[in-house]
Amino acid sequence: MNAMTGAVATLLGIEDAADLARVAAGAEAIADSLPAPARLGLRTGAGTLDVLARLTTGHALDGLDAAGRDAFCARVAARPSTARMAEMMKIPLLLAAGTELLPAPPPPHGLARPDPELDCAPAAEWPGCTTADAVVIGSGAGGAMAARTLARRGMSVVVLEEGRRFTSRDFRGRPPLDRFLGLYRDGGATFALGRPPVLLPEGRAVGGTTVVNSGTCYRTPEHVLRRWAEAGAPVEGFGDRLDEVEATLRVAPQPMGQLGRNGLLALAGAERLGWRAAPLRRNAPGCVGSAQCAVGCPHNAKYGVHLNALPQACEAGARIVTEATAERILVERGTATGVRARRPDGTFLEILAPRIVVAAGTTRTPLLLRRSGLGGHPELGRGMAVHPATNLAGRFAEPVVSWSGVMQSVGIEELHADGILIEATATPPGMSSFPLPGLGRSLRRELAGADRLAVLGAMIADAPSGRVHGARHRALIRYDLAREDAARLRRALVAMGRVLFAAGAEEVLTGLARKPAVRDEAELTRAAAMAAPADLHLAAFHPTGTAKLGADRARTPVDPAGRLRGVRGVHVADASVLPSCPGVNPQLTIMAMALAIADGIG
Ligand SMILES: Cc1cc2nc3c(=O)[nH]c(=O)nc-3n(C[C@H](O)[C@H](O)[C@H](O)COP(=O)(O)OP(=O)(O)OC[C@H]3O[C@@H](n4cnc5c(N)ncnc54)[C@H](O)[C@@H]3O)c2cc1C
Ligand code: SF4
Repeated sequence: MNAMTGAVATLLGIEDAADLARVAAGAEAIADSLPAPARLGLRTGAGTLDVLARLTTGHALDGLDAAGRDAFCARVAARPSTARMAEMMKIPLLLAAGTELLPAPPPPHGLARPDPELDCAPAAEWPGCTTADAVVIGSGAGGAMAARTLARRGMSVVVLEEGRRFTSRDFRGRPPLDRFLGLYRDGGATFALGRPPVLLPEGRAVGGTTVVNSGTCYRTPEHVLRRWAEAGAPVEGFGDRLDEVEATLRVAPQPMGQLGRNGLLALAGAERLGWRAAPLRRNAPGCVGSAQCAVGCPHNAKYGVHLNALPQACEAGARIVTEATAERILVERGTATGVRARRPDGTFLEILAPRIVVAAGTTRTPLLLRRSGLGGHPELGRGMAVHPATNLAGRFAEPVVSWSGVMQSVGIEELHADGILIEATATPPGMSSFPLPGLGRSLRRELAGADRLAVLGAMIADAPSGRVHGARHRALIRYDLAREDAARLRRALVAMGRVLFAAGAEEVLTGLARKPAVRDEAELTRAAAMAAPADLHLAAFHPTGTAKLGADRARTPVDPAGRLRGVRGVHVADASVLPSCPGVNPQLTIMAMALAIADGIG
């Protein structure tokens, strides 16, 4: 048994040899896909536990029996430094164990729609030098809408995408963990470092993060648009653009039939409190509630841009080059002339074009611009908001089976005016930042009883306190939670607990190390009040604003038309241009803004 297998057996309390082999193999696969520092951290953590076991028990982890491992776990949990290390290791290890709780991939029928025709060519097969009227970098929410607009105007458009194309075959034929590791940058382990660290997963695929998102669709709130109008953002007629996006994505309220018990309990709890709540509006026509949105919809029901705007762009003549990482934008005498992209084998291709649209996402766009020598604006990479999110689980007497139903099903908007949006979001254990309590066999029991947990998540409208450093390929992301945002998250914890208790939860799992379970609202309020930011196990799914657009030249790297200042021929059209966090799930807003920007490209 190697150190990783020993750590899996010990921290997750797994005794069955076959289970152990399966989960340990998953943990190794996760480690392999992590960025080097995280990989080193996980492997070093496993090695450290093994050494500790030898020092304190005289045996390696694999020499301990089950009771010995439990005693060792108790010692690890008793010391803050080792407890923190074990908690960090639990996230990837639970991912390896937890995704196995998903229902088996469905039999090969029942697709809501077939995979569309896409003119995709892998970079390996793309010629070394070609020309186009426009190059769009990134095929996600913003890039897809920009590519479609330009192609429909008769331009020859090439979309460069670092990820590869995934189809329903991948989502139906491969286990959830494999899909997870393939669909996310850094195996899903991108972190913003700071106080506290925040998990910041990002999709990397044809369709970008829309392939893995939850399909929740909110229109940009009016008060946000008013603020943006004052900043000079192109929000006139924004309602029409949102209509166009909604029509493309076929957005509609999620029918009750597929919500699943997780969503129904959220509705019931909110109703008992007299709180405003409803099934979310989603872009998932034909959703059957299989809760797998985060690893690619096996039914092609979730209608990401890989199923609509990109095929429409291709119909109008656009071409997509996959596994092509834009290395730099080529510039001559202050004017963009094309893009150089790296193939997986390290060779390069160049596409010469007078129009470049950067849509690589909030954390990558500033890096690409800096690599291209276009990162001179002092505000580039600064002022990132992320919508930090935390979650809470209620334990019910009856099975909830939260992974059967819509993954993100119900919105509770009672506190939205205060910047708190609660959404019933049920990923299987490990696939969110929610840490089940305990170590060893007690954690294993929690895992086995996870079918009785209902999970709520809450995100908050936050201060733009993040920053993307780095000039090469690795983003160094820093995010420090503002004091008032920490207070808002504590309030969100209590609000979620109230909903769960009102729905009949016997107890609520807080994820807080000092008080992992509470029996009533008063206990939860006390526990939340004592929680330090580091206790809040934050994740964030909506980074925005690292290349803000606006009228103020000094404060915005991008002008109101989406043009990067200081160079001719470069537009930015992704989440990085948003002037502030929108306070709601942002995909519709990003797409509508990309339409506005692309419409203005001459
Ligand atoms: C798990 C999860 C769930 C979410 N759920 C929701 C939801 O329910 N509703 C909602 O509104 N929002 C949701 N979001 C957020 C939403 O999907 C994103 O905000 C949105 O997709 C961002 O759009 P974008 O165009 O900025 O970037 P992306 O959609 O991330 O696209 C950027 C693309 O650029 C590519 N790229 C990056 N660098 C390069 C390069 N150098 N060369 C070539 N290609 C490159 C990337 O591989 C990626 O495919 C979720 C996000 C996550 C992570
Ligand atoms: S819940 Fe998500 S993955 Fe499952 S069918 Fe609906 S959209 Fe697809």
